[in-house]
Amino acid sequence: MSDCIFCKIVHNELPSAKVYEDEHVLAFLDISQVTKGHTLVIPKLHIDDLFQMDSGTAERVFSPVPEIANAIKEAFHAEGMNLLNNNGAFAGQEVFHYHLHLIPRYDHTDGFAKTFISHQNDYSPADLQEMAAAVRNKLQ
Ligand code: 5GP
Ligand code: ZN
Repeated sequence: MSDCIFCKIVHNELPSAKVYEDEHVLAFLDISQVTKGHTLVIPKLHIDDLFQMDSGTAERVFSPVPEIANAIKEAFHAEGMNLLNNNGAFAGQEVFHYHLHLIPRYDHTDGFAKTFISHQNDYSPADLQEMAAAVRNKLQ
């Protein structure tokens, strides 16, 4: 896409700090560096988000992720890592070229926080079975 900043990074029309590249995948440092080493992994071919991704692209994009994650962990002595992928504006996506965030973690004040809110008490076991069946029906 001609107006996509990540396509421009893929085609070297915009600068980036690359950490990994193969035929299908590019990984480069996120400009915001939420934590030190914060990296984005993208398919070279433009797709907006996960909902457009086919399984072959998913395999190719995720295949180098463990190696990249270990390289970041070793380079900066990270204690852990969060993987994050925002899909759709309502989910916080700002750049509409699929990207997986690799966010190395150092301590509880490093710039990233897990903010899951449990609603476990709102759903009975029967509710969960019904919801799982609804998704299974869509997978058939
Ligand atoms: P999103 O909110 O869409 O999941 O994340 C978009 C990410 O892209 C943000 O973390 C932002 O810092 C990063 N970003 C936006 N523009 C650029 C850029 O020009 N270069 C790099 N390296 N990262 C960018
Ligand atoms: Zn793009």
